Amino acid sequence: QSLEKVCIIGSGNWGTAVAKIVGNNVTRFPHIDSKVMMWVFEEQVDGTPLTEVINTRHENTKYLPGIQLPANVVAEPNLLKAARDATLLIFVLPHQFIRHTCVELRGHIRPNAKAISLVKGLDTHDGGLDLVSNVIADELSKPSGSSSTNGNGRTDRLDVSILSGANIANEIAQEKFSETTIGYRIEQNGRLFHDLFNTSYFRVNIVNDPSGVELCGALKNVVALGAGFVDGLDLGDNTKAAIIRIGLMEMMRIAQYVDPSVRDATFFESCGIADVITTCYGGRNRRIAEAFVRTGLPFDDLEKEMLNGQKLQGTSTCLKVCQFLRERQLSQEFPLFTTIYNICFQGLPPDHITQFPLPHLSKM
Ligand code: NAD
Ligand code: 13P
Repeated sequence: QSLEKVCIIGSGNWGTAVAKIVGNNVTRFPHIDSKVMMWVFEEQVDGTPLTEVINTRHENTKYLPGIQLPANVVAEPNLLKAARDATLLIFVLPHQFIRHTCVELRGHIRPNAKAISLVKGLDTHDGGLDLVSNVIADELSKPSGSSSTNGNGRTDRLDVSILSGANIANEIAQEKFSETTIGYRIEQNGRLFHDLFNTSYFRVNIVNDPSGVELCGALKNVVALGAGFVDGLDLGDNTKAAIIRIGLMEMMRIAQYVDPSVRDATFFESCGIADVITTCYGGRNRRIAEAFVRTGLPFDDLEKEMLNGQKLQGTSTCLKVCQFLRERQLSQEFPLFTTIYNICFQGLPPDHITQFPLPHLSKM
């Protein structure tokens, strides 16, 4: 049997932390090639290409400074070259970049490839919300040119699992204990990815609710913006706990409108309540939302000034989700999400974060 080969598509803060985990883990499995390719969106760091920095210093000095990467992780700036031999594709890009990256990859992946998405965000398609895992599967399973396959002999749909959890990258890179959740469609692939990611300090649980796991990861970033507003207003811990509670309730209800198969139990996995909590205390969305209140500067400016190339996921997710709710006349049922949207995009003063009306619930 030929070896499984891994390619990580993305090399930001989380992508690099994951490269450390996967790079170490592959050496324990005889059925997986010990070389791990990592596609890097090339840029210059102090006059040197980032790929060269990673391959010589074994450190991503821009996105995860101070963390040593295993030498079997190989940074590659050419996307098609990085992914061409891979049977295990790990997508870990900001959601903004997923579709065009997949379009570029179309027709160039192995017919037996399986994928996992670590992306926390949503796309839109024909007025509806599109899960990133669907974008990946759709784009990489589409016929390429006149061929009836995807150009690589693939006629079936690419299977895409999801990994999402209470996972602040810097803490995991320092091997501080945390849990995560993998949502699978095909159990065998869920187990395969479990083995690829699980370590003593990064404990993976697998569940058969891929949409639930993915929606948790996307929606919690919006709640984190609300938590940041609370911090910017110095409202304290009780208020933040209220935002977390109401936010989780709204997440569960939104998920039902997007995909009624989503299970409530998934919200009690690491991808659910635990990720809402960690992001509302330690995440980038929280931090930038706090700065938004304190400085009055636009989110885009704060992202550029404060994140050194890292990307926010919460604001664009908020925009898409609230548009989805508005088009279905559901906004009244989601006062917290709607208030966060109005603060971010409609000039509503941030202190309205605690002044929203009780929801009008058409359905419990
Ligand atoms: P990041 O925000 O740290 O870095 C941004 C990345 O985008 C960089 O690698 C940059 O090179 C790349 N990029 C910039 N322009 C690009 C383009 N045009 N095309 C492709 N790539 C481009 O990235 P991250 O933290 O690894 O986030 C990736 C995903 O992982 C996000 O959805 C995020 O929500 C999720 N995630 C992040 C964390 C975390 O703690 N950082 C934890 C869990 C999940
Ligand atoms: P931020 O993108 O807000 O930093 O959240 C990171 C995360 O997803 C932790 O689980």
